[in-house]
Amino acid sequence: MIHAGVVAVQGDVSEHAAAIRRAADAHGENVDVVEIRQSGHIPDCDVLLIPGGESTAISRLLRREGIDEEIRDHVAAGKPVLATCAGLIVSSRDAKDDRVETLDLIDVSVDRNAFGRQVDSFEAPLDIAGMDDPFPAVFIRAPLIDDVDDGVEVLAEWDGTPVAVRQGPVVGTSFHPELTADSRLHDLAFFDHVEAEAAD
Ligand code: GLN
Repeated sequence: MIHAGVVAVQGDVSEHAAAIRRAADAHGENVDVVEIRQSGHIPDCDVLLIPGGESTAISRLLRREGIDEEIRDHVAAGKPVLATCAGLIVSSRDAKDDRVETLDLIDVSVDRNAFGRQVDSFEAPLDIAGMDDPFPAVFIRAPLIDDVDDGVEVLAEWDGTPVAVRQGPVVGTSFHPELTADSRLHDLAFFDHVEAEAAD
């Protein structure tokens, strides 16, 4: 049984929980999905999801609840995290916004709400490293990744800009992989990793 936590202080939680269940099913894994609103639960989680929503609110609530430290400890232990959209913003090194205290899990800087400023949301077929077919990526007021340090692997780009990155056990996306029926990204972030660990 894999214990998956979805940070649920704010943002789109249920769609991610469903995507995690689909990805687990595809792998023949049993998964228990827990919504995280308080400290004390993350230490029991094997994998963790930080969803999209409003990064200023998520950042404030993570700190208030003491969840921020638990997320750092989870990553320090080498356990997988998938951080999407606002989740990527809070996981970055620098969000250029005093209201967002970043967790510094991925060595990138981001520009909030900059991507596709002309059109608030759009869907694009993305070539993602390790996937045979394009992934239907939904962008909603997405963060622009404007600086990528050494040690960060770019998994996908759109229009010459990185939109999916990985550093160690953490995968971050500018887009919302939970909004289509395609759960390959949850699979890549969580279950491939769990299998690789088990094979060690
Ligand atoms: N623009 C939002 C923010 O800065 C993120 C958008 C999203 O998660 N869809 O928090």
